Amino acid sequence: MAKRDYYEVLGVNKGATDADIKKAYRKLAKKYHPDANPNNQEAETKFKEATEAYEVLSDEKKRQTYDQFGHAAFDGSGGFSGGGGFSGMDMGDIFESFFGGGGFSDIFGGGSRTRRGPSRGADLQYNLTIDFEEAIFGCTKEISFQADDKCDNCSGTGAKPGTYAQTCPTCGGSGQERTIKQTMLGAMTTVTDCRTCHGEGKVIKEPCNVCNGRGKTRKTKTITVEIPKGINQGQSIRKAGIGAPGEKGGPNGDLLIAISVKPHKTFVRQNNDIYVEVPISIVQATLGDEIKIPTIDGEETYVVKAGTQPETTVTLKNKGVFNVRNPKLRGDQIIKFKVVVPTKVSEQQKELLIKFASEDGTIPTIKKENFFEKMKKHFD
Ligand SMILES: [Zn+2]
Ligand SMILES: [Zn+2]
Repeated sequence: MAKRDYYEVLGVNKGATDADIKKAYRKLAKKYHPDANPNNQEAETKFKEATEAYEVLSDEKKRQTYDQFGHAAFDGSGGFSGGGGFSGMDMGDIFESFFGGGGFSDIFGGGSRTRRGPSRGADLQYNLTIDFEEAIFGCTKEISFQADDKCDNCSGTGAKPGTYAQTCPTCGGSGQERTIKQTMLGAMTTVTDCRTCHGEGKVIKEPCNVCNGRGKTRKTKTITVEIPKGINQGQSIRKAGIGAPGEKGGPNGDLLIAISVKPHKTFVRQNNDIYVEVPISIVQATLGDEIKIPTIDGEETYVVKAGTQPETTVTLKNKGVFNVRNPKLRGDQIIKFKVVVPTKVSEQQKELLIKFASEDGTIPTIKKENFFEKMKKHFD
């Protein structure tokens, strides 16, 4: 594919001034920057094309050569060592010098630098461990934690009560410093945060003696949290506005309460279903029985069928956990019967078991001899 003319790419004419070129590039860079066009191949190509054009046209020497030789100047056969071109450029550098070290996000700030305005406080996380039943049925918890809050002594200004923050003498209140820097793209005006006030535009002469000028102090906060029934391990509850205080009148962040649930000795939860292993004896499994089964609502009567096999599972519909979003919906309880084989039997039980086995001829070989001897004695 033939390479487009660099002037055409930027949409400027041959006689464009450096300022025109910069303006044109800035417009295109904003429009096509990969950050603003995720997964857009076309935008990426256009962005690279514009950047390449800008790299050449913004450099007096390169522009001259390009005007004389066209693209041939940069394809390796032309005037530049290393072939010039796009590949060696660090995009980060361009934006640093172009927009003053603030990174790409500042492009969208529309001229005024957003970091100096009000900003939302950070979200905080509190890890709360609750019991299994508390997660199932919900509960109310009081939690205490240490967090920054507005300093009461200075009302958050950071200045000693009765004094005020003053306009920064270095930057005159703008919070910015401009320096002119030579870069590979030519002379660039770099805008950085003021060294004296760190972009605040104001300096505190007499800091508040409680918060040392921070405007915030560490406080213990105690809040009550309603844990909804059905909450599960790994879910969290958001308490809006309880997080770190905002800057310059910005809103507070949120408090996220991350829930951990202690395991239960009987019940195992999987999503909204409850799994329980119920031990039954070989006699109960064989003859059937009416037994008590634990559920999260309490014990329930259940009739074990005669001939229940080991590992048989039974589902009790709607006996599981409440859906945390809609408590009218419940999961199920799944029972698995564990048929317990006795490890200790009395002599009499042994005899009875052998008698039992003799009914269908399944007496274990090693017991057979014994059994017939005894039977003989019995009849003698
Ligand atoms: Zn203070
Ligand atoms: Zn300043």
